[in-house]
Amino acid sequence: KAGRSAGWNFDNSYARLPQTFFTEQPPTPAHSPKLVVLNEALAGSLGLNSDALKREDGVEALAGSQIPEGALPLAQAYAGHQFGYFTMLGDGRAVLLGEQVTPGGERFDIQLKGAGRTPYSRRGDGRAALGPMLREYIISEAMHAFGIPTTRSLAVVTTGENIIRETYLPGAVLTRVAASHIRVGTFQYAAKWGTQEELQALADYTLERHFAKPDEGENRYLFLLKEVIKRQAALIAKWQLVGFIHGVMNTDNMALSGETIDYGPCAFMDTFDPATVFSSIDEQGRYAYANQPYIAVWNLSRFAETLLPLLHDDQEQAVKTAEGALAGFAELYTGEWLKGMRAKLGLFTEEEQDGSLVESLLKLMEKEKADYTNTFRALTLDKPQESAMFGTPEFTEWLGQWQARRDRQPQSKEESLQLMRQSNPTVIPRNHRVEAALDAAVAGDLSVLERLLDVLARPFAYTADQEEYAALPAPSHYPYQTYCGT
Ligand code: AMP
Ligand code: MG
Ligand code: MG
Repeated sequence: KAGRSAGWNFDNSYARLPQTFFTEQPPTPAHSPKLVVLNEALAGSLGLNSDALKREDGVEALAGSQIPEGALPLAQAYAGHQFGYFTMLGDGRAVLLGEQVTPGGERFDIQLKGAGRTPYSRRGDGRAALGPMLREYIISEAMHAFGIPTTRSLAVVTTGENIIRETYLPGAVLTRVAASHIRVGTFQYAAKWGTQEELQALADYTLERHFAKPDEGENRYLFLLKEVIKRQAALIAKWQLVGFIHGVMNTDNMALSGETIDYGPCAFMDTFDPATVFSSIDEQGRYAYANQPYIAVWNLSRFAETLLPLLHDDQEQAVKTAEGALAGFAELYTGEWLKGMRAKLGLFTEEEQDGSLVESLLKLMEKEKADYTNTFRALTLDKPQESAMFGTPEFTEWLGQWQARRDRQPQSKEESLQLMRQSNPTVIPRNHRVEAALDAAVAGDLSVLERLLDVLARPFAYTADQEEYAALPAPSHYPYQTYCGT
């Protein structure tokens, strides 16, 4: 039992749920673990000691080769709709060590991803490759820096073993930190295979862990449904605002905490196109950029279905209640999105026509194949740049409308630009930059990764050293594709 000095302080509330929700499962020890990257800032906020984590027994704990005191490793059971088809899933390559209780009394799941086979592995090897684990680290930490709710990445270690994919790849374990790993799919699993008591226990646990108390007299499970809808509406709006495409919005990849989870085939859009899809397996474009809010509602509908027995004794009434709650998504989503877009355009006040002002800019960006991030960056820097769009008469006209709109608010232009600097990232994890960092890291050079992480940690800084990270890739980089499951 290691790691007391590292500051591990585990509770295991998930393990106190009914047995059907998990299987006790120790991680498979790694052959010769080596630390690749440690998130010292995150470690500190969790009450962990970075120096101790870097020592041999610290690294062994991050690799699953030693089990820290107080941990109770388990694999969680869940189901889910994958591309619309219902399947039994579960942690096939992840082990939950327990919940780290921070000095401030907050509780975070500590999960080792890539820690070996579990009863839910099906035909998989339970392992993960270094490149994709570092990719999750980079993108999840970038999302956090944008202020978007997300699971975090504490560390990546290599196992010292190769794993077999199309070729041999270095094996790795990512330590994922999450408010919890309860998914829509966890509820689907409970509704399909559990008793009503077990479903209710999961719902009560989720309420307790993530949400404030419902009002006196309100059905607590309707409250849960509404709160989950609210968080997802806010989350997806934030994705749209930064051009993030999740890529695999299966119901098992939607966390009830409202955090972004499962960084597999995700990527950021550069050229603005609502139809953008990066994932090689998403042939129908189910999870395309513009579809994300609709898919969220589809997933939330599957969640609502699992709650029906708890919503009302009369199931017809329960369906009506659930439909009413789901109908609220559109307004919540649009409200969050428009709030974010106003900020991106430096608007403090609200006018009826703001939605169409934004839409006409987006239409123009689509038509002129403008870069999403750099368009807002250029507007923020208040200087025209070498973009085809900025030279068009339509853009000049739009600029005039925007200018007039800003003149109608009491705030100064400087205040408006200040708001824009806080709302428009100057750097995103550009796909070619991420690839370059991963290639170098897998070849043993961590410097490219370290610099990229440093720049992405302050996306709103607008400093000169970030300039080069705004550059677009060479045309040969397109079309960019992403892959799941490595
Ligand atoms: P995902 O597409 O990442 O949401 O994963 C879907 C399911 O496949 C989850 O249940 C994973 O645990 C499982 N899975 C993915 N990769 C592996 C692997 N290498 N070994 C075992 N299970 C895996
Ligand atoms: Mg997943
Ligand atoms: Mg995945």
